[in-house]
Amino acid sequence: MPKTKTNRCSFCGRTDKDVRLLITGLEGCICDECAIQAAQIVSENNAFAKSTNTKEQVDWHELPKPKDIKAYLDEYVIGQDAAKRFLSVAVYNHYKRIFQTHRKDEVEIEKSNIIMVGSTGTGKTLLARTIAQLLKVPFTIVDATVFTEAGYVGEDVESILSRLLQVADFNLEAAQRGIVFIDEVDKIARKADNPSITRDVSGEGVQQGLLKLLEGSVVNVPPKGGRKHPDQDYIHVDTRNILFICGGAFDGIERKIAQRLNTHVVGYNSVQNAARIDKTDLMKYIQPQDLKSFGLIPELIGRLPVLTYLNPLDRAALRSILTEPKNSIVRQQQKLFEMDGIRLTFSEDALEYIVDKAVEFKLGARGLRSIVESIMMTPQFELPSAGIDHFEVTLDYVRQQLEQSNLSATAQ
Ligand code: ADP
Repeated sequence: MPKTKTNRCSFCGRTDKDVRLLITGLEGCICDECAIQAAQIVSENNAFAKSTNTKEQVDWHELPKPKDIKAYLDEYVIGQDAAKRFLSVAVYNHYKRIFQTHRKDEVEIEKSNIIMVGSTGTGKTLLARTIAQLLKVPFTIVDATVFTEAGYVGEDVESILSRLLQVADFNLEAAQRGIVFIDEVDKIARKADNPSITRDVSGEGVQQGLLKLLEGSVVNVPPKGGRKHPDQDYIHVDTRNILFICGGAFDGIERKIAQRLNTHVVGYNSVQNAARIDKTDLMKYIQPQDLKSFGLIPELIGRLPVLTYLNPLDRAALRSILTEPKNSIVRQQQKLFEMDGIRLTFSEDALEYIVDKAVEFKLGARGLRSIVESIMMTPQFELPSAGIDHFEVTLDYVRQQLEQSNLSATAQ
């Protein structure tokens, strides 16, 4: 472009003397700062167009089928076949449903929120997290015990959605298709199996609060989380297509199942024994009415139509968890050492011993990690500067490290 009197940026009006760089085009100019801003606007616009292209996002023909979902879960989670099958189908149906909503079909498929019952450390969170990973949707875990009924000290249930928005980088469209895992839902059970006489701030009130999130409605969410404030601009989050997965240990629910089944497993002196012996068998028969006997309100149970259970992990399952999952505890350790050029191996009897200790300390799968971490503490400190290329963790070594650690003392 022939130099006219003075070249000016066509966007901000500054001259070439006021800016670092002025790019000239056929009909005008743009300065370096305006060019950067323009590039940002273009990329935000592209991202928005992508996120609102719901057709592309929910084309369920491209979604993994229930068998594919289960196969993926098998790579990360040991056992729990029943729960995996239920989850795979529920998640598949959920996404079919989203697709159908966009097509405005006549038959409306209802939302399929899920509730998983199983002792702590049996893989409930892991299952939910793994599914979210497969579907590449925003995922958040919340603990039901932090909520209180609106108006009381504690978090409002709406803060669940603030967290989902945060993990979705405030992309509303993405958040509205996300997955929320609500842990410890059994802890907000009504204390006795009769409608409460006194007000129950942290139990029934919270269950009531959850209802509107679970059933699908537009909820006003304060953008920064925290408590509502009259002057705040709310984000309107539609929860219709958010999948809620609830989890809880529901300790003692076998007795409710047994009572319903009218079995004779519950002797007053042998409650614990009976629960241990019959636990796995009884869990198979879990029904929504058992959750009601436990203290969940019927309206909440109604909004969690898919009910499944997880088995307690036996010794064999614990042994598999150590090495078999794609990101198993042992593989993670091996990866860490590989980065130092060291090949890490575990002898079979060392692995067996670790499992024995997890069983002995009654720490379950969660305990496996703490045991391995405490065994590997010294090698992680020493080996990177030891100049070796192989290290085998033997039974003797495990014994010696565990004796030195304070794990055995604290686990007792
Ligand atoms: P829950 O939510 O049931 O209390 P988690 O899913 O948080 O338990 O499990 C705790 C840890 O134990 C997980 O990080 C995982 O490493 C391990 N774990 C538990 N169950 C399994 C399983 N079935 N397969 C593989 N790892 C498991």
